[in-house]
Amino acid sequence: MSQPVPFPPSLWASVTPKRPPSPALEGETKADVAIVGAGFTGLSTALALAERGRRVVVMEAAEVGWGASGRNNGQVIPTMTGAEPDGMAQRFGTVGERFAQLVSDSAANLFDLVRRLDLKCEAEQTGWFQPAHSPGRVKLSAARVEAWARRGAPVRLLDADETARLCGSRDWYGGMLNTSGGHINPLAFARGLAEAAVAAGATLHENSPVRSVERTPAGWVVATAKGRVVADQVMMAANGYCDWFEPGLAPRLARSLVPVLSWQMATAPQPEAVRAAVLPGRQALSDTHGDLRFFRWDARGRLVSGGALIVPFNGAERLKALVGRRLAGIFPQMGVPAFDFVWNGRIGMTGDRMPRFHRVADGLWAWVACNGRGVALSTALGPVFADAIEGKAEADLPVPLTPVRPYPFHAVAKLVAPAMLAWYRYKDGREPS
Ligand SMILES: Cc1cc2nc3c(=O)[nH]c(=O)nc-3n(C[C@H](O)[C@H](O)[C@H](O)COP(=O)(O)OP(=O)(O)OC[C@H]3O[C@@H](n4cnc5c(N)ncnc54)[C@H](O)[C@@H]3O)c2cc1C
Repeated sequence: MSQPVPFPPSLWASVTPKRPPSPALEGETKADVAIVGAGFTGLSTALALAERGRRVVVMEAAEVGWGASGRNNGQVIPTMTGAEPDGMAQRFGTVGERFAQLVSDSAANLFDLVRRLDLKCEAEQTGWFQPAHSPGRVKLSAARVEAWARRGAPVRLLDADETARLCGSRDWYGGMLNTSGGHINPLAFARGLAEAAVAAGATLHENSPVRSVERTPAGWVVATAKGRVVADQVMMAANGYCDWFEPGLAPRLARSLVPVLSWQMATAPQPEAVRAAVLPGRQALSDTHGDLRFFRWDARGRLVSGGALIVPFNGAERLKALVGRRLAGIFPQMGVPAFDFVWNGRIGMTGDRMPRFHRVADGLWAWVACNGRGVALSTALGPVFADAIEGKAEADLPVPLTPVRPYPFHAVAKLVAPAMLAWYRYKDGREPS
């Protein structure tokens, strides 16, 4: 690839100050650790390792935050979408319990990092709220509050009246509030992390798509078109985009997740009266629907929301109508808003909604498939992978390492996955059994 890859248009791309570009990799260099991908995972791992005095080289195919990290809703959420904390512990024992704790602490960890590094990313630790869209889901919220509270999370079950006051809407029946969550401008956070990692001593190369990662007697060789890094260890942090630039780079990893397009949208700035009536406490909100309802205010008075589609044809226009009607229904104070930005990005999904963590080979690490909840988690994983790379015993890590298991009919799964939305909508209309 000779031309720089354009940065995808979005609200965040339009409002976030740029950082000076880092030079593409040329020639040969040595490192303790080579990192593929400059999203939250790659950058937080680079930061943790550089702060510990390791020589780290990060190679990014496009620009910092080009992938999911620069395009997401910016909700800092200390839970997973499907995997419940008790289920994590039952399935993976002590390691699963540690993983639940890592997730539970992940939002507080992100905001602590923002404060420690003084990152200018419009961070607001206003809480994350998961309202329940049916009476049966309130029971689910109560069970979740109980399970997360046992792990020390600052959670509380809100009744219908408290929920209506928090949301500015009577659409929900109660829900779980976690005060450690909130929201950020994700691209500003990614760019800030990059600056912090470089300041700590990491080397960053943008416009440097990695073509191959090979083990040689000299160490791992990570090659781009014009350069190579010889490293003791490698972190594959390309996640849901690991086959985007170089389909042959990690084909088994790419087939171990199913990429699904998530659409994001930002309204025009809303009048003060609407801002005071809708989510007046500025929490981040994602509810219990499978066809998720999610919203948060940005720093300029735009409501940042989005939706999903089975068929992406004419997606932006169809979503403006669909999500506009939905918002007006939930928040009559707002009416049907105009949207200034619509964009999308890839989310890596798995059948059991659990992320996958891998020691692919001796000295080669990876994780994939955030299942839509990776802002806080991928940031928390930096020090975890730094520990793993520095030799912490597998049994002492807070993530369950599993073998890479590609889906057997991956091409079919990719085609069918968006249609799951119809199933989610069907289930959304019924109480959980
Ligand atoms: C639209 C959308 C909305 C979301 N909303 C939320 C949310 O509100 N809250 C939440 O918790 N989670 C959300 N997520 C998930 C969250 O954004 C991700 O889990 C997180 O950003 C993953 O970070 P990452 O660094 O692992 O991957 P990415 O940010 O995708 O980074 C991977 C990087 O690897 C690079 N790359 C790929 N191939 C190569 C190569 N060959 N060589 C070099 N570099 C390469 C890519 O360019 C990319 O920059 C959302 C995701 C999407 C897509």
